Amino acid sequence: MLWLRSLIYYLAITLISLFTGGIAGAEAGLTLACVLLSLSVCFHLYNLGRLYRWMQHPRVDNVPTSFLLWQDVFDKLYEQVRNQRKNQDKLANTLERFTSAGEALPDGVIILDEFDRIEWCNQAATQHLAIDRNSDVWQVVTNIVRQPSLREYLRTQDFAHPLLLRTTRPTEQVLSVQLVPFDSTRKLLLSRDITQLDRVQMVHRDFIANVSHELRTPLTVVGGFAETMMDMPEMEPATRARQLQLMVDQTQRMQRLVDDLLTLSRLENGQQLKEEEVDVPQLVRLLQAEAEGLSQGRHTIKIAQIAAAKLIGNHDELHSALGNLVSNAIRYTPPGGEITLSWRLEQGVPVFAVQDSGIGVSPEHIPRLTERFYRVDRGRSRATGGTGLGLAIVKHILQRHQGQLAVKSKLGEGSEFAARFPGHRALTD
Ligand code: ADP
Repeated sequence: MLWLRSLIYYLAITLISLFTGGIAGAEAGLTLACVLLSLSVCFHLYNLGRLYRWMQHPRVDNVPTSFLLWQDVFDKLYEQVRNQRKNQDKLANTLERFTSAGEALPDGVIILDEFDRIEWCNQAATQHLAIDRNSDVWQVVTNIVRQPSLREYLRTQDFAHPLLLRTTRPTEQVLSVQLVPFDSTRKLLLSRDITQLDRVQMVHRDFIANVSHELRTPLTVVGGFAETMMDMPEMEPATRARQLQLMVDQTQRMQRLVDDLLTLSRLENGQQLKEEEVDVPQLVRLLQAEAEGLSQGRHTIKIAQIAAAKLIGNHDELHSALGNLVSNAIRYTPPGGEITLSWRLEQGVPVFAVQDSGIGVSPEHIPRLTERFYRVDRGRSRATGGTGLGLAIVKHILQRHQGQLAVKSKLGEGSEFAARFPGHRALTD
C-alpha cells in the first residue's frame, strides 16, 4: 500500500535524523532532517513535473519510469493506459467489423438522423439510390433521391409496408424501400433491388392474360353455338352439322393449348433429364413420315443428309422439339413448297435442321420467336392450328440438352431452323 510505504520512508528519515542528533548533537540531527526532507520534496516535484508533461501527450509507450513511491504510481498509470488502449482497440475492431458487415450486405442500408439527413450508407445503397458518399453525407435524403413517393413515405411515418420505387438513376431498377426507426430519433432506410422479381411477376401476369385471351375465343364460339342449338331445336341438319364441326375444331384448339401448357409446365418443373441413346437417324425418318401425314401431299419433303450418329438425350423430348420445327415448316410453307430435313455433324457439333421454302420471317422478329405466345402473324398461326407455344417448348427442350436454336430466314424466301447440340452428346461408331 502506497500510504504505508510513504509512512515507512518518513519514519526512516525521522529515525535517522534522531539517531544522528543523539550522536552528533541536535543541530546536526536537525540539519540532516532538513536535507533529507528537501531531497524528498525535490524528488516529488521532479516526478510531478514528469507526470504533468506526460499528461500533455499521454501515450502508452512514453509513460515515465522512476523509483521508490513514484515507480508504483507510474506502474499503475501504465497498466491503466494499456488497458484503456486495449479497450479502444477492441471497440475499434468491433466497429470495423460492423461497418464491414454493413458494407457486405446485398441490401442498401442508410442511417438517417432526426432531420432525415444521411449519416452513413453502405455500398449497395450508393448503387441503388445514386448516392455519392463524398458529397451527399449530411444531406437530406429526399434532396438526393428526388422521388415524390419517398418524400410522402417519410412524411406520413407509416412504415408498416415497404415502398416500391422505380428509379432511372444510376440504372433502371425497381426497389423495395423500407424505413425502420431505431433509438428515439434515428431511422434505417433499407433498399432491396427487386427488378428481377418484378420482371418475373410481369411475365407471369402477361402469361395469365395471354392464356385467358387464347381460351376466350374458342370458349365464346363453343358457348355461342351451344346456346343457338338450345334455342333452335328445329335447326336444319346441315347448319347443325357445320356448327358442331366448328365446336369440335375449337375444342381441339383448346385441347392443343392445354397440352402445350402442360408440356411447358413439366419442362419448367426442371425434373432431371432422363438420358438415353437416341437413334436420331431413325427419328429423322419418323419425322419425315409424320410430316408427309401432316402435309397430305401439299409439299415435297426430303432428307438431305443423315449422319450415322446417335445423340445422348431424351427420345420423347427430342421427338417433341424436332417435331415442332418440322410441323412449323409445313404450316408456314405454302402448298407446292419444299421442306428438307438434315442430321449432320458440323466439325463434331451435331445439328438437326429443317429448311423450308415458306413465308420466312423478317429479322426483327427472329430474336423473339421463342417467347411464349409470340407470333409474327397471329391469323396464320391460328388458322394452321398454332398455339404460339411451339418454339418456347423447343427452346426449353434444347436448353435441357445444353443445345441452342439457330434461325436463318429471309422474308418470302424461306427459313432454316437448326437445333445445335454440344459435341459431347454425339455418339459415332
Ligand atoms: P405457333 O403455334 O404460332 O406456330 P411457334 O412458337 O411454333 O408458335 O412459332 C412462333 C412464331 O414463329 C409463329 O407464329 C410464326 O410466326 C413463326 N415461325 C415459326 N416457324 C416458322 C417457319 N418455319 N417459317 C416462318 N415463320 C415461322
